[in-house]
Amino acid sequence: MDNFHFSRPTTLTEATAITPPPTGAFRFIAGGTTLVDLMKLGVETPSLIVDINTLPLDTIEPTPDGGLKIGALVRNSALAQHPAVLRNYAVLSQALLSGASPQLRNMATTGGNLMQRTRCIYFRDTVYACNKRTPGSGCSAIDGHNRTLAILGASEHCIATNPSDMNVALTALDATVHVQNKGRERTIPIQSFFLLPGDTPHLEHPLEPGDLITHVTLPPPIPGVQTIYLKLRDRASYEFALSSAAVVLGISDGKIHRAQFAMGGIATRPWRSSEAEHLLQGRAPSAALFRQAAETALHGAHPRSENGFKVELAKRCLVRALTLATKTA
Ligand code: SF4
Repeated sequence: MDNFHFSRPTTLTEATAITPPPTGAFRFIAGGTTLVDLMKLGVETPSLIVDINTLPLDTIEPTPDGGLKIGALVRNSALAQHPAVLRNYAVLSQALLSGASPQLRNMATTGGNLMQRTRCIYFRDTVYACNKRTPGSGCSAIDGHNRTLAILGASEHCIATNPSDMNVALTALDATVHVQNKGRERTIPIQSFFLLPGDTPHLEHPLEPGDLITHVTLPPPIPGVQTIYLKLRDRASYEFALSSAAVVLGISDGKIHRAQFAMGGIATRPWRSSEAEHLLQGRAPSAALFRQAAETALHGAHPRSENGFKVELAKRCLVRALTLATKTA
């Protein structure tokens, strides 16, 4: 591991006033469950690390409009078990508990999970070419081992999946990410927070140097909806999704009045299909309708040499999640 400068500010003002160094990367660290691993592998080589663990960003509070404010330092385990989350945003709790291990969830934070890096094996091994790690070097995965990688939202420069479960649930719930930098605050809708790779896969978020995620807000819970997170993977625990679906579904008088969903494990960012959601709106739930929605959501999927199975897997995952939400509605 390379040498780096280390700072531990005690106030938010201090943390967001830090000037990024002229050379080398600047990283905030909280739980460190991704960053430290990547530093050991030589993938991340920051010249300055700012430890934010002492900042007052670890609370979960109601917002004035009836939604929920989740501090960036709230641990994944605390968020999954919070009464307001269990009561009103169960899909978020289910997604969190499906990820990693209890030990990792006790350390991992909301802000860190939003910034989680891909698990593409070539990204994590500095021997191989990787446009995300070293822009312009090429993509070893396109003609390599790509079984776990993306079939949607990819480009000829990168096909890496976003590995997070939490991000899929936050996308289905229409969360908002709040950021501060040198006294300036701004908000980023979750669907704009994850950039498609295009020809700049090293740029993953619309963040500027020094931007600190302070919290995430969820809109007020929608009365009468059922939510569910379904995750399909190679083994039952401590594994990333091959396909997942976070579903928010409301049914009254035999018709769907609310349909929001996001899919994980299949795309370069949590994947939302407004066309498929619109298709469900106002219709009576049925197996045929759900299949039609899944076909629409996967429209344009572009599998590579090893991940063609994901197209059908993702469709079945979504149909199954919608069906389970209907049964509990
Ligand atoms: Fe790198 Fe993306 Fe290609 Fe993986 S898929 S090797 S992360 S450029």
